[in-house]
Amino acid sequence: MAEIRVIGVIGAGQMGAGIAQVSAQAGYDVILCDVDLARAEKGRDGVAKQLAKAVEKGKQSQADMDAAMARIRVSGDLAPLAEAQLVIEAATEREDIKRTIFANAAALLSPGAIMASNTSSIPITRLAQAVPDKERFLGVHFFNPVPVMALVEVIRGLATSDEAVAAVQAYVERLGKQVVHAFDAPGFVVNRILLPMLNEAVFALGEGVATMQDIDTGVRLGLNHPMGPLTLADYIGLDTCLEAINVLQTTTRDPKYRPAPLLVKYVEAGWLGRKTGRGFYDYSGAEPVPTR
Ligand code: NAD
Repeated sequence: MAEIRVIGVIGAGQMGAGIAQVSAQAGYDVILCDVDLARAEKGRDGVAKQLAKAVEKGKQSQADMDAAMARIRVSGDLAPLAEAQLVIEAATEREDIKRTIFANAAALLSPGAIMASNTSSIPITRLAQAVPDKERFLGVHFFNPVPVMALVEVIRGLATSDEAVAAVQAYVERLGKQVVHAFDAPGFVVNRILLPMLNEAVFALGEGVATMQDIDTGVRLGLNHPMGPLTLADYIGLDTCLEAINVLQTTTRDPKYRPAPLLVKYVEAGWLGRKTGRGFYDYSGAEPVPTR
């Protein structure tokens, strides 16, 4: 398997830009693609802003920032990916979009290149059906925000080779991040454990077990979590949480993953968390205020 020097990133949104940033900072050359050049450039501009803040705070030198930025090229199509030894897809979480991307990218890639998806919920073995070389296809699940979060889950599909897993593990470790390995099961490791916890917190709230603040404080201090589950759900987005718990339920058909009725109601009301200014907390003022 060829040494990984050039990373292709497909999708220059919050995750793709973050993956491009940490890869360039670790010394990889990066090709950042999106549906058009303007979107790819917007992703790279976001990286420049992040790095400039780090320079302002004295966390990194201007020279390091310039070197990292010089390693990120942008593209409005997939053609330059022919140079990459590892391509990470971080496009919109829709299976039809991802399948089209994989089919198009597979036709361009050099022999031996590895293709990975950053999907949060779509089974890797199923996505692999869109590419001819299923041995070199796997999941590489970064966490948000990518530059801050220390963990990456590496997910093998049924056909993924040991060599592809080892090559991606070495890449992730060079980013200074910790790998956990997961088989291709719904939610992988972290979301499988996290989502039922968030959902259960909403059940507890809906059943009147405790106030919002007491549920959050209980988990924060009793389990030593940095934030409570309702605060975290607002941060992730309640629509995203509902979508993800629905994926767990429909893929396993296990009723233990049924969504809390109050979560469904909040999403129906358009109270989606921080991004809409209101979820379980109200974010219109200087400090979040509990709404129940
Ligand atoms: P986002 O909406 O911020 O970015 C998605 C980007 O993909 C957009 O810039 C869009 O223009 C681009 N895109 C869409 N179709 C494309 C195509 N055909 N070719 C190239 N680019 C295309 O989304 P995000 O939050 O960055 O999520 C991206 C992926 O990462 C999803 O699979 C998501 O499930 C996964 N993920 C997200 C998080 C999170 O917390 N946001 C965490 C882990 C994994």
